[in-house]
Amino acid sequence: MLLESKIIAIDFDGTIVHNKYPEIGKPLPFAFETIKMLQQKGHRLILWSVRTGKLLDDAVEFCKKNGVEFYAVNSDFPGETKIKNRKINADIFIDDRNIGGMMQWGEIYQILAGEEPQQPKRKKGWFRL
Ligand SMILES: [Mg+2]
Repeated sequence: MLLESKIIAIDFDGTIVHNKYPEIGKPLPFAFETIKMLQQKGHRLILWSVRTGKLLDDAVEFCKKNGVEFYAVNSDFPGETKIKNRKINADIFIDDRNIGGMMQWGEIYQILAGEEPQQPKRKKGWFRL
């Protein structure tokens, strides 16, 4: 299924990594894997964090080391550095402060990609003939 490309804003602390702010926690299971797959699907991903300055740079660097470079950081477009008093323009926000809490990354992928994450293809058994 081909889904329309979306702009997806993703929080850092508590969402990509466990919340150890201002330290950087361990990645949540399948966070980076899912984010990379979403990029491959053509979605534009924005890092959307309360971090600023060096703490923000640390987060960006940590994501880079894990193979993820965001389309933009705390802004709508690459190179923009700051948004004042304005929500960014995204189709979807992924945030641990969302009502209902943080969803599993596997579920997020299923919703956005419309397919199962990394599931081996089921072989047809005799019962499916
Ligand atoms: Mg958070």
